[in-house]
Amino acid sequence: MEKGLFLFLAMVSFFFLSPVEASSSSRPDITVTPSKIGQGEISLLSIERKGAEPEVTWMGKKITLVADEKNEILSGFIGADLTTRPGRYKLKISRADKANPHSIVISVLSRDYGIRRLTLPREMVELDADTLKRVKEEIRVVRELFIRPAGSSLWRGKWIRPVAGTVISPFGPRRIINDEERSPHSGVDLKAPEGTPVKATNRGKVALVADHFFGGLSVFIDHGGGIHSMYFHLSQAFVRAGQLVEKGTTVGLSGCSGRATGPHLHFGVRLNGGRVNPINLIEISGRLER
Ligand SMILES: [Zn+2]
Repeated sequence: MEKGLFLFLAMVSFFFLSPVEASSSSRPDITVTPSKIGQGEISLLSIERKGAEPEVTWMGKKITLVADEKNEILSGFIGADLTTRPGRYKLKISRADKANPHSIVISVLSRDYGIRRLTLPREMVELDADTLKRVKEEIRVVRELFIRPAGSSLWRGKWIRPVAGTVISPFGPRRIINDEERSPHSGVDLKAPEGTPVKATNRGKVALVADHFFGGLSVFIDHGGGIHSMYFHLSQAFVRAGQLVEKGTTVGLSGCSGRATGPHLHFGVRLNGGRVNPINLIEISGRLER
């Protein structure tokens, strides 16, 4: 095939097969973009504001919606945990006045994030009894943050990158450390030389600042509406629990505290407790104003 023609066809197929397909709903006042969700991914839900307040449920959890500036569109995120079983799930929408309940079937697709093999010093992997006890307690405290009632949304508009650096270790792969399977990588590692200011990805309330065995000096922000963000391996934290932070507030400085082989920022997001790709949230939220 002629080179020019091939290039043309490649471009055409790229545009038509673009993974962010427009939304799909028999109801023009409700859109879900993209219309299918991969494991560990997010979709943006938009509902026209008319009549009684809509109530949205996804995988048994109420989805909190935020109004745009003109108060015409309500937006929220629905997502699938890294290990949600692929299949078809119902997004249920009802109104307070019970008029016109509606549901949309949304597919969760399987995603292969691959496997990452790591070799780490034995003392970082094989934990003694005291360290194991410490780690279990830290896991319990963090889990508690995610199961607290969602509260009203504090976040507004687009989500931003906490540091400018590129992704040096992606979201999702299963991790085999010193030949043993461990938890998958549930955030992204962003390039950040020691001492880089780390910014809050959106508005929220600091839920926890702690020094954890794996995450090192860590900041957790509760953005309300069931969304949390977390920043690990910091060298310094400038915020304390309970403090309200605006989008872009410097919450600390990057470093390599905890189990890190060099300075970087581990950035993670939970959506209703589900482990989702934070870069996906930033990209999907780019459709929102502000
Ligand atoms: Zn990481």
